[in-house]
Amino acid sequence: MMLLLIPLLTACESSAPETLSVTAMDTAMFLSVYGGGADTCARIRERTQELDRCLSALDENSEIYQLNHSGIAALSDDALALIQRSLTLCRELDGSFDITVYPAVSAWGFTTGEHRVPTQEELQEIARHVDYHAVAVDGNTVTLPDSFMLDLGAVAKGYLADESRKILNDAGARAAVLNLGGTICLYGSKPDGSSFKVGVADPVNPAAYFGTLSLGECVVATSGGYERYFELDGRRYIHILDPMTAAPVDNGVLSVTIVADEGMVADAYSTALFVMGAHDAAAYYRSHGGFEYILLTDDGTLYVSEGLDDRFTLGDGYDYTMQIIAKGS
Ligand code: ADP
Ligand code: MG
Repeated sequence: MMLLLIPLLTACESSAPETLSVTAMDTAMFLSVYGGGADTCARIRERTQELDRCLSALDENSEIYQLNHSGIAALSDDALALIQRSLTLCRELDGSFDITVYPAVSAWGFTTGEHRVPTQEELQEIARHVDYHAVAVDGNTVTLPDSFMLDLGAVAKGYLADESRKILNDAGARAAVLNLGGTICLYGSKPDGSSFKVGVADPVNPAAYFGTLSLGECVVATSGGYERYFELDGRRYIHILDPMTAAPVDNGVLSVTIVADEGMVADAYSTALFVMGAHDAAAYYRSHGGFEYILLTDDGTLYVSEGLDDRFTLGDGYDYTMQIIAKGS
């Protein structure tokens, strides 16, 4: 998987960071920690691998696989915390984000890579089995109705960002940049007082970035159709699906980047605002707030929420039309 966001680390630190690369959750991760003791990166890696083993929908030994295939499971604290927080976000986001989307993801072949286009009848049937209201939690036991399955892929990296921050706190780290497969956890502050710089990937050429964000401590998550998709008969089918129709989103959105305090919020909202589309995303921002966003559409319009107006710089050679979304407008 390509990285969605590229943290731009400036070499102005007095001491070199501790760094580590990790391959987990089907993606590459890069950890840089300043002043946290020698094993902080290793502890984050361990936590990453632990969560990966617990949450992977494809690993037969994972808790989520067990739950999906037997319809009931007693879950660990991690899986339970993630599911409960996710269900709250599903409610907040009113159906654009839905952790029961797995049957749809699977029907289009995104789980195996054997891509196909399901028939309309099939999609209607699948859409009846996508509804987070059907997930029942009783103590640490979670139950799913027949044909329902969970997909925590849209929030696992956000949860990991939140868990990593606990490790950084415990270790007394001074600053950290964790690139968790495109979900970026920015921690602490740089010794020289300057802000962190994060590049936002160009959906047409994801190795490049169309602009940079200057940020303090936060989590930055991006959802992009370019990240995983297939093409058939001149049409592109992306891995972000509308839970209402069980079909790939096709609303002109190319990418959404969210800046938020909480990793799970950043991650869930990036997927959700992508599904909502430019108009509803702006309306959601105005009525809810608590996060900032950048949304790019295929007509070259870049929507930037007002909190990022003076933190975002468009890159040279990009002529997007910028629209600032004000809270009160
Ligand atoms: P990425 O995983 O590439 O960073 P996202 O965070 O947007 O991107 O997550 C997309 C993944 O989430 C998909 O691959 C799929 O497994 C799942 N997913 C797709 N559509 C939705 C949706 N509307 N709600 C919840 N999860 C979704
Ligand atoms: Mg997401």
